Amino acid sequence: MGLDVVSDDSKTEVGSYFISNYPPYSVWSADQAAHVHETLDVPAERRVPLGLYLHIPFCRRRCSFCYFRVYTDKNARDVDRYMDALAAEVAHYADRRALADRTFEFVYFGGGTPSFLSSDQLSRLVDHIGRYWRWDDAREVTFECEPGTLKKSKLETIKKIGVTRLSLGVEHFDDDVLALNGRAHKSPEVFLAYDWARDVGFKQINIDLIAGMVGDTEKGWKDTVEKALALSPDCLTIYQMEVPHNSIVARDAKSSGGATPVAGWPTKRAWVDYAFNEFEQAGYVVSSAFTLVKPSEHSSFVYRDAIWHGADMVGTGVASFGHLQGVHYQNADRWDDYIETLESGKLPIARALPITDRQRLIRELILQMKMGRLDTGYFRDKFDVEITEEFGDAFASLVDDGFAKLHTNEIILTRTGLLRVDGLLPRFFEPQFRNIRYT
Ligand code: SF4
Repeated sequence: MGLDVVSDDSKTEVGSYFISNYPPYSVWSADQAAHVHETLDVPAERRVPLGLYLHIPFCRRRCSFCYFRVYTDKNARDVDRYMDALAAEVAHYADRRALADRTFEFVYFGGGTPSFLSSDQLSRLVDHIGRYWRWDDAREVTFECEPGTLKKSKLETIKKIGVTRLSLGVEHFDDDVLALNGRAHKSPEVFLAYDWARDVGFKQINIDLIAGMVGDTEKGWKDTVEKALALSPDCLTIYQMEVPHNSIVARDAKSSGGATPVAGWPTKRAWVDYAFNEFEQAGYVVSSAFTLVKPSEHSSFVYRDAIWHGADMVGTGVASFGHLQGVHYQNADRWDDYIETLESGKLPIARALPITDRQRLIRELILQMKMGRLDTGYFRDKFDVEITEEFGDAFASLVDDGFAKLHTNEIILTRTGLLRVDGLLPRFFEPQFRNIRYT
């Protein structure tokens, strides 16, 4: 799937826009998977923070824009079998030399829909993992929720297993828009879930929104922003709607031979800008191209910041991504391959890529650029590189286009640049990765 570099007046075509890693996933390969096993067998050289990602791949129904590896047809026995495999996978890692004596600084339950699990399934998973590894000292434990799957008692279980950051996939407050996009929940469930979550007392509650869903209008978006503001979440994440290959919207657009029914990029950027302005007026701070936080002692996002600064992360679950000591990897992305490999006593790593020091530098640079600000001293200290010289042409092009300003010790993206940051990043890629498939 190609990475679509978006121009000023572009329509939303089918394709990936969001950049989450470097080098592109398309150059990771099965024949490099052995590097992960070798890395696991030697003590860690880089003392970087360590995280755990647990992928829960179940959803009540498939959203029409979704391209993730998720299952909507699994019964309770399937779910139990998956959870056993997941716990076995964590156990596999626990005694490897690269992870010896290390504790998790952050944990992330992602999906899919982690809140699809029952309280019993969740407690069993955590008990099982707890025999090998604990996360009592983690700075942050995040748990993604679909509002319609929650009950107060389930939220109490989620809190009990140590979750500090609850992320609610709201996406929009108009029930017609939610239905048109195949979401399983309706807006009344959001308000119920949010109140329960506040009662239960999570340290940080995040709300996810998507600008430009099928059927959205300027009025509908403004109404959604107003309702999100009224809830007063600790942080807010706003994505610009994409139409990924393998999504239902992409399939429908291709079969009808027409354009996608999604607002164009300029409209989506204007809508995110509107939301940013409204939340800023209410005291929030823009903390990246797609996040805002209410300043407080609980406004950090450890998972994102750690990964964007080169942390290690054990990625577990079907199709999960991980990174250990300079090696990227991804698990088997088919149900049977993932589960059967674990049941046969092996780790289900399907493809990997050991990265060079220069690629580590580029990876951190492009990911941190999504925060809208680069600290040149950080790169000087960590990589011994003056990034304004090393990437002089790329930064000059950003400045010429009005997307960035260079200061003595930092590079700051303008709001215009920040709202299209993913489209600006390929100019920092090594030449061999600029015009290839991204995923
Ligand atoms: S809830 Fe999330 S993971 Fe599940 S189908 Fe919808 S977008 Fe995909």
